[in-house]
Amino acid sequence: MQPTTYKAKAFSAASETSPLASTTIARREPNERDVQIEILFCGICHSDLHSVRNEWSEFMATNYPIVPGHEIAGRVTRVGSAVTKYKPGDLVAVGCMVDSDRTCPNCQRDLEQFCPNMTLTFNSADKYLGGRTYGGYSDSIVVDEHFVLRLPSNLDISGAAPLLCAGITTYSPMRHWHIGKGMRVGVVGLGGLGHMAVKFGRAFGAHVAVFTTSPNKKEDALRLGADEVVVSRNADELKKHAGSFDFIIDTVSADHDINAYLNLLAIDGNLTLVGAPAEPLDVPAFSLIMGRRRLAGSAIGGIAETQEMLDFCGKHNITADVEVIPIQKVNEAYERLLKSDVKYRFAIDMASLKSE
Ligand code: NAP
Ligand code: ZN
Repeated sequence: MQPTTYKAKAFSAASETSPLASTTIARREPNERDVQIEILFCGICHSDLHSVRNEWSEFMATNYPIVPGHEIAGRVTRVGSAVTKYKPGDLVAVGCMVDSDRTCPNCQRDLEQFCPNMTLTFNSADKYLGGRTYGGYSDSIVVDEHFVLRLPSNLDISGAAPLLCAGITTYSPMRHWHIGKGMRVGVVGLGGLGHMAVKFGRAFGAHVAVFTTSPNKKEDALRLGADEVVVSRNADELKKHAGSFDFIIDTVSADHDINAYLNLLAIDGNLTLVGAPAEPLDVPAFSLIMGRRRLAGSAIGGIAETQEMLDFCGKHNITADVEVIPIQKVNEAYERLLKSDVKYRFAIDMASLKSE
């Protein structure tokens, strides 16, 4: 039987060189376990830009048209008959995933992000409607309740939206590697992910240093909670910190020299990559073997950990610093993102889609 659908407004790109533009998409009518959400805000992640421009073609080719967006915050409008966790009116959120097989060993360990059958919020096969999944640059979305998160009611909704990707992607590895008091943590790149890493590092009690290519972000970095700021274009400045960090989280979206940061790690120090530049990075063996250093990676976080992170943010009043924009400014925002010109996350006010 054909699933029943309804029409939703959205912004999509038709090809890797096309701008995002207004369109209409089909969403499924909620099934038994589905939650329909009116999207109020959606953050703009650099992954949206990588995907829209098909920069990850080797690992995750983009299918067009693409509707990006995986930092979704909104309000429940309808629920299926078997939904137990949510009711209309609840403030909720959706991140990078909308489904997984729930049975594989990774799902059983609450690591849905590593499920071989995981469905991404956009640009994954849509098992209900065929075609591809469509993300949060839209006025509504329908998601299985397991992949819907509860937003703490004390948080500003626009600032909470980016927690669903920038937040969990930095929280998860910092928890995994037990960041806490007495540790020296470096954050490379002060963008959407980086500024969240600073806030979490501070909240976990670590000493936080920011490495930025943008001298004009120095004061903000301190205000966000950093203990020190190093302008990373200056190689001599970097060298002063050689061998002194326990943990470095690298959030850079473009090609850069990670060797310079590996050399800042103490013995047994760990550099975790969360930034995902399209090009391979050069890693000299000696940067790792001298000092028994580790180079690691991390991808978002599981659903249970995402709820834990949101609850932590509610308790500590942590949100992203956002610049709220109407969706009509989304293409301009992408150009600014490429110039590291955002403080520190764009959040689209989805009310602006009503006039399309
Ligand atoms: P963003 O807001 O654009 O921040 C990236 C920051 O990197 C910039 O603000 C800039 O910081 C720095 N940077 C940019 N170009 C640089 C260059 N050429 N050399 C050195 N530094 C540079 O992006 P984002 O949304 O935080 O995302 C960052 C990366 O993480 C992207 O690649 C994204 O796809 C990836 N990501 C991964 C996951 C995951 O699960 N692992 C999840 C989300 C995003 P300064 O101005 O301070 O230098
Ligand atoms: Zn993201």
